[in-house]
Order: sequence, then structure tokens, then C-alpha cells
Amino acid sequence: MTIFAKIIAGELPSNKIYEDDYILAFHDINPEAKIHALVVPKPTHLERIQDVTIDDAALIGYLMGKIPHIATLLGINETGYRVITNNGGEHVTQEVPHLHFHILGGELLGDKLAPVN
Ligand code: 5GP
Repeated sequence: MTIFAKIIAGELPSNKIYEDDYILAFHDINPEAKIHALVVPKPTHLERIQDVTIDDAALIGYLMGKIPHIATLLGINETGYRVITNNGGEHVTQEVPHLHFHILGGELLGDKLAPVN
């Protein structure tokens, strides 16, 4: 069971932003920008992007469609934000093997993930 599965199950606490039957959004414990949220689908069968099939189309489409609402709750829908997924492999670290989307914003972001200092 991943950390995110435990958060979804309520076995671990999180700083929740939005929750419904299909997705959960919460603040990242180790933020890399002023606003750093995570959005996860509640079903646990998707570890990475390549696990997504047509059977998940509604779930993933729903999640994507909710991101502007989550950004609005975070107060960053107008100023813009970045959505990132780490698809783990030799070149990219994916700490948690449960598909999730990082939402970063709240300050000026550079060309890459790191905020501009
Ligand atoms: P990944 O590398 O898998 O794309 O990112 C995992 C993210 O989950 C990291 O940004 C990390 O800070 C965050 N994270 C790891 N454990 C926890 C936790 O227990 N609670 C919260 N809120 N975030 C976590």
C-alpha cells in the first residue's frame, strides 16, 4: 500500500484541498513552490502513465477537468500554474508509485520546475 493509498483510506493525515468519490487533492508535504498540491485518482491500480487504458478515460478526464477548480480553491487559477507528472524510470524519480499530478504555482516559475529566485 502506498503512502497515497493510505492518505486516501484515511490511515494517514493530509492537508486536504478537495475530495470527492473519484479524486483527492492535498498539499505536498515538501513543497517545491509557494503552492504545491497533489491530485490523485482514488482507485489504486494506476502506478504510472503507461498503466492508463481506455477504461480509465473517464477517471483521468474527470481528474483533469477538476484541476481548474482545485486551482481556484488554491487561488492560483488566474495567475497560472504548472501540472507535472513524474513517470518513474532511469531518468526521472517517482517517489510514490500511485499516479498523481503535481500542481505548482503561487509565484513566478522558471522554464523548469524550480521557482525563479
Ligand atoms: P513523485 O516523486 O512521486 O512525483 O512525488 C511524490 C510527492 O509526494 C513528493 O513531492 C513528496 O513531497 C510528496 N509526499 C511524499 N510523502 C508524502 C506524505 O506523506 N504527505 C504528503 N502530503 N505528500 C507526500
